[in-house]
Amino acid sequence: MRKYVIAGNWKMNMTPDQTKTLIDGIKAELFASELKAEVVICPPFIDLAAAVEACKDTKIKVGAQNVHWAEKGAFTGEISADMLKAVGAEYVIIGHSERRQYFGETDITVNQRVKAAIAAGLKVILCVGELLEEREQGITAEIVAKQTKIALMGVTAEQMKDVIIAYEPVWAIGTGKTASSEQADEVCEIIRNVVATLYCGKTAEELTIQYGGSMNAANAAELLSMPNVDGGLIGGASLKSADFAVIVKAVR
Ligand code: PEP
Repeated sequence: MRKYVIAGNWKMNMTPDQTKTLIDGIKAELFASELKAEVVICPPFIDLAAAVEACKDTKIKVGAQNVHWAEKGAFTGEISADMLKAVGAEYVIIGHSERRQYFGETDITVNQRVKAAIAAGLKVILCVGELLEEREQGITAEIVAKQTKIALMGVTAEQMKDVIIAYEPVWAIGTGKTASSEQADEVCEIIRNVVATLYCGKTAEELTIQYGGSMNAANAAELLSMPNVDGGLIGGASLKSADFAVIVKAVR
């Protein structure tokens, strides 16, 4: 059985104090529910320590939103995988479309980050997804296949147990435009087939593939009911404890 994972990408929101308040709210909302999904909170770097402290003694995991590939050195402003481990992070989001769009992230740098994160013992949430023009051009499958294949270069089948792929159509992120459940399922299945050709059917079957892009309390249940959608990467709706909890509880 595949693991369902609901992860909140807080982007550039929240101070350490606000982090504690929001996580306390999420804990209160989820209190007494039997969690059917792994829950991961990904706040900004400076909030990681507060998040780890607030999640102590709960099943909620903490993740970062990026990581550098080098172990250490002259990389002003960057954070290494070992630093993330040391603060208590267990996950890291890599290749988010906002990093690709605004910060020069390429498929090659995504691959470098993925390998460094796995080598350090972090679990990776690898984001792939097409632009609106690419969907309109009918090349969604090629785009996500290329992103997936390059990101996973040098990653072994054994290491794939530490990888989650998030299908995030760029046109659906932060826009309020959600992919239909059929569109989400279709591309998640394409990604699963790519992983099957890279590795084997078992690796692909066991892989958690999330959908991300304006998933919210109202549409989560339908998206999460699709056979190839094993969770969600949630932006805006993860900043409201009640909405985030509804999404977590939508996993059946
Ligand atoms: C995201 O940032 O990964 C995301 C899916 O954002 P939103 O839910 O706000 O579209």
